[in-house]
Amino acid sequence: MAKLSKIIIFATFLIYVFCSLIRAGSLQKVTRGNFIFIYPKGDSLLVEYLLKETDKPLQRVESFFYESLTTPVTILIVKSDRAFRAYFQNKIPEWSQAIAIPRERMIVLKLSNADQIRKGPQILVHEVVHILVYDHLKGAGIPTWLNEGLAEYFSEGNLSLQKKILLADAIVSNKTIDLMAMDTLFRFSTAKARLAYIEAQSAVAFMVEKYGLPKLKQFLDYLARRKILDDAFKLTYHFDFLDFEIQWNEYIYRHYRYLVLLRFEEWIFAFIALLFLMAVLAVYLRNKKKLKKMQDEEDSSDFFEYPDWDESDSDESDEFR
Ligand SMILES: [Zn+2]
Repeated sequence: MAKLSKIIIFATFLIYVFCSLIRAGSLQKVTRGNFIFIYPKGDSLLVEYLLKETDKPLQRVESFFYESLTTPVTILIVKSDRAFRAYFQNKIPEWSQAIAIPRERMIVLKLSNADQIRKGPQILVHEVVHILVYDHLKGAGIPTWLNEGLAEYFSEGNLSLQKKILLADAIVSNKTIDLMAMDTLFRFSTAKARLAYIEAQSAVAFMVEKYGLPKLKQFLDYLARRKILDDAFKLTYHFDFLDFEIQWNEYIYRHYRYLVLLRFEEWIFAFIALLFLMAVLAVYLRNKKKLKKMQDEEDSSDFFEYPDWDESDSDESDEFR
């Protein structure tokens, strides 16, 4: 409860800061449907780009949850890492690019370089999914792995090959994180957080692939009715969370562990090893050729130096005996 009131006070403070900045003219505001964008002056093209690229993915997400954003959501675009961290008083992890505060219907999105702008639409969809999940569950609690897994799955779909290889690497080196351990995600290092997001996405993708989207929807409906996680699993899938985690672990072990062979550094190592072998072979062949040539020359010299004269042809030959 204390945490909740802190968030509300903090969000109110942020809104006050934004309003002052809009009045001062350094920020602009535009309303599109249920989105209110607040962005630095002169970045209207960035807003258009975000709207265009998120339109279709958001329609898909809204059709899954059978509901759309009925209460407006404020999206603040921040162009520098310093400003982003300052808004949250440095209380956010270094790897964070966006924050959703569903209760206050607010998303803060950092777009400070070309790579972040490229990923911007996908990250915005991810944050909107958090708000839709919150709306759908009517504020009921949800484990972090499921919340992040839904956001990643609905903003990206199945794991990319690169993510599968990272997961494979964690599987073979025995570094996978328990799904429930992700509740402390905010304290994870960058590498650990990246793996946690991949695992969460993979767990939701597995639920969809094995049991289908309608079952996932039913599962979330049970959570919305304040069922605890184990009960929601049992009522929907007829097994509990532990059984689910075992199934998912077996699935990723079976499907992804071999992908570790596709790691870039493995191929670089193999390539260097191959170059080395080729170099050794080339030196061996060259030496062999040289040796053969020397032997041939030697044989030829023998022929000239020690001709097989017919002894009877010359008397001089006797002198060398
Ligand atoms: Zn998230």
